[in-house]
Amino acid sequence: MALNHSRSVKLNDGHFMPVLGFGTFASDEVPKSKAWEATKVAIDVGFRHIDAAFFYQNEEEVGKALREKMENGTVKRADIFYTTKLWSTFLRPEFVQPALEKSLTKLGLDYVDLFIIHWPVAMKSGDEILPKDASGKIIFDTVDLRDTWEALEKCKDAGLTKSIGVSNFNHKQLEMILNKPGLKYKPVCNQVECHPYLNQSKLLEFCKSKDIVLVAYSALGSHRDPNWVEKDSPYLLEDPILNAVAKKHKRSPGQIALRYQVQRGVVVLAKSFNEKRIKENFQIFEFELTPEDMKAIDGLNRNFRYAKLLSRSSLLEGPWISEGDRYILVERTCEKQQQNPYRHHSHWLGMRVTPAAEMTTTF
Ligand code: NAP
Repeated sequence: MALNHSRSVKLNDGHFMPVLGFGTFASDEVPKSKAWEATKVAIDVGFRHIDAAFFYQNEEEVGKALREKMENGTVKRADIFYTTKLWSTFLRPEFVQPALEKSLTKLGLDYVDLFIIHWPVAMKSGDEILPKDASGKIIFDTVDLRDTWEALEKCKDAGLTKSIGVSNFNHKQLEMILNKPGLKYKPVCNQVECHPYLNQSKLLEFCKSKDIVLVAYSALGSHRDPNWVEKDSPYLLEDPILNAVAKKHKRSPGQIALRYQVQRGVVVLAKSFNEKRIKENFQIFEFELTPEDMKAIDGLNRNFRYAKLLSRSSLLEGPWISEGDRYILVERTCEKQQQNPYRHHSHWLGMRVTPAAEMTTTF
């Protein structure tokens, strides 16, 4: 990934993506207004790449922040790189453009910079963000992702998005798109979970070989939303090696985790709704990790995935699972789901994936 003077990477369609992006996902407990406040702070400190999604249900607030910053002259529309994602209930080709138009209306923008398939798993279309049957189980749908992709290509041709890409695709799913007869545009990126405990080195190598940018989410060790992440998951930013490297450079472990990705050619997202940490996360361009630092951080990889609560069908189709992972399925109890404040997710998350070594975990 060649960096240009504006700290961006050139995508395979000629557009530029800033290598550091601001994440906007927050759990349902966080007031939506926080996304508005934090996005304004992020723009003030220098973030120009904003990662959002229909599913986060805060695009109105993020859009309001962007428009305010444009109206008061802090930034121009062309300075901002805005990503939105196509949610799983809109994967049928006829729903793709209307879904993007829905996001644009919420945002109050004419176009987005990047539109990506959020998950390679289709759910029944309709008004429900997580459609469920009478027994409360998520209703999936069967959609050929190649047809979805053609609809994304049309959104690009219509000028509603500058670039198109995917998220949570494994290399086989990427190949399926790349080998599609009549492919007009390649995905510019694949956004996946990526951090020192899951460094995705094989997927990264594959993406680089196809001129697809790997975008890292949960690069700071994830949001730890209990709906998605087991509470006993390790705290990445407490890792002794990461802390030793941080101490050596007089930086924070978070800054090291972000800098690590940029130096290995990965575009990195950082979510914070805290002013101090938003500022801190932007300060990763004034220092450099040595080859020894990079090697030490590479050595932390353990194929550990924070986002463990996944659907059965997504597993069967193989997304999320990166090469080298050894996973088995484990049933999750309904009891815990009833206590879960995020009950609307519960059945969808009725399965979890766990490395074989964690077989004894109870949940
Ligand atoms: P993350 O960036 O790994 O970390 C966020 C957590 O770290 C928050 O709890 C934040 O708390 C804390 N934090 C932020 N900066 C810190 C620092 N310098 N030191 C210590 N703690 C710090 O979170 P993520 O939400 O998992 O991933 C980032 C973004 O990626 C999301 O917001 C979203 O845009 C995207 N994403 C995409 C997908 C997908 O399926 N495509 C999935 C997950 C996430 P405070 O807010 O309190 O600072």
